[in-house]
Amino acid sequence: MNTMMAAPPPPQSRSRGTTEADIAQYVAGAEPVESLVAGGYLAGHDGRLIAQQLRAPQLRRAVTHSVCYAAQPDVNDFYQEDDESDADWRRRRASTVRGHCSACPVRAACAELALRNGDTAGIRGGLAPEKLHLRLLAEADRLTAARAEDERAATQQQARIAAAREVQRLAGQYVGGSIPADRREKNRLAIAEALQQRDELVDAHRRSTGWTAAA
Ligand code: SF4
Repeated sequence: MNTMMAAPPPPQSRSRGTTEADIAQYVAGAEPVESLVAGGYLAGHDGRLIAQQLRAPQLRRAVTHSVCYAAQPDVNDFYQEDDESDADWRRRRASTVRGHCSACPVRAACAELALRNGDTAGIRGGLAPEKLHLRLLAEADRLTAARAEDERAATQQQARIAAAREVQRLAGQYVGGSIPADRREKNRLAIAEALQQRDELVDAHRRSTGWTAAA
């Protein structure tokens, strides 16, 4: 975690009029995920709305700062046993949530990632499977749009990586040996074109997300 990075100012409390659009704008202008984690923004009052604005890679990065990742508790604590009564499971899961999720700095990101993955089998983000399932149904349209956006972002990322590789490949052709002047000039133009394409893709990504680190 980058503790040197200044945390962004907190969004205003929703009770004082913060809207989903305010949150989206705030997240788009924020520092990378580590700042949100360090500032406690993925566990606080607006954590759920902030997590909804993040793309899947950012959510996955956030959960590397979780209690589960750091402490690696017994995974069985998060799932109902086949022969376990509902009453026993309710007691046991309350203890799991108290002992782990309540102290987890990224519980909103954890729940959002579970919902994006359609994973409601165990406790995630401090929520019992029943609550996760209800949210999955209630937020179906939003989640479908979020998954489509995750997919679009992944495709764009592949295009950025391919463009960067093409620049490297072309630049590598200059290494070693003597190259005729006409081929050198052709290669120089190809590199300039590839660089422009790469930079346009990176700029478009930054304009659309506001994130300083490509996700
Ligand atoms: S919220 Fe709970 S289930 Fe999710 S990572 Fe944190 S401790 Fe684990």
